[in-house]
Amino acid sequence: MRLSNKVALITGASSGIGKESSLLFAKEGAKIAVVDINKTEGQKVVEEIKSIKGEAIYINADVSKADDCRSMIEKTENQFGKLSVLFNNAGIMDSRDDDSQITEEDVWDLTMAINLKGVFLGCKYGIAAMRRNGGGSIINTASFVGLMGAATPQVAYTASKGGVIALTRELSVIHARENIRVNALCPGPLRTELLMKFLDTEAKKNKRLIHIPMGRFGEAKEMAQAALFLASDESSYTTGTEFVVDGGITSAYVTPE
Ligand code: NAD
Repeated sequence: MRLSNKVALITGASSGIGKESSLLFAKEGAKIAVVDINKTEGQKVVEEIKSIKGEAIYINADVSKADDCRSMIEKTENQFGKLSVLFNNAGIMDSRDDDSQITEEDVWDLTMAINLKGVFLGCKYGIAAMRRNGGGSIINTASFVGLMGAATPQVAYTASKGGVIALTRELSVIHARENIRVNALCPGPLRTELLMKFLDTEAKKNKRLIHIPMGRFGEAKEMAQAALFLASDESSYTTGTEFVVDGGITSAYVTPE
């Protein structure tokens, strides 16, 4: 198994990428701390892992709160004895997020608090645990929008993901000699609740699909497969990357008809 003897904490694990990664990592032998603010769905993920003879606990934590982040790391170490993989994946896409003229300050602040400060806080407490473990792998979920501009505006979301990429790069350099690897996962547009709620009409979905060379939205399971590589020792020489898994969208100038 690819994650034997590893303990992984995954935020935003009640749904989408976090849920699929929790299930896949557990199948590959990791013990999982399923972290989210959605307790009902999070506990279902834990039950599913237990049903395949895996080990998991649910921890309720809002990643924008320092106390919650400190305690999610503590609870994971208390339960499983260490932390080897930290997947800072929780994120929101607020439907009120638009261009600079429309987006209100409270939408900007909320988006930054969860999407960017949440990653900082996860790393702040998670890196201390990884030092105690003698190393580890951190995966921060960014997005292809952190790498490209779009005329479909979501300025707060885009800026938050650009911040995740810059933070990841710097942390990877700082901690490289401590055996702590830090990579950003940059998904393309996915068929998860987060994006489908935002692209809530066929016209909006089609407008996005036009730009994807593969002509379809990605699946959360496909992100879990990429995260598995970054979590495992197979990526032992990989740090500081913008790991792009996007159906070709960031390579496209013109897409096939
Ligand atoms: P999702 O909505 O299916 O899952 C997000 C999870 O995060 C939910 O379970 C939610 O309850 C949880 N969450 C929200 N706020 C939280 C908080 N404050 N503390 C803890 N948990 C919280 O979305 P997804 O598509 O799986 O997205 C996961 C990550 O991938 C996000 O960071 C998102 O920005 C990023 N992403 C998504 C897409 C896409 O197209 N869906 C593309 C690029 C990047």
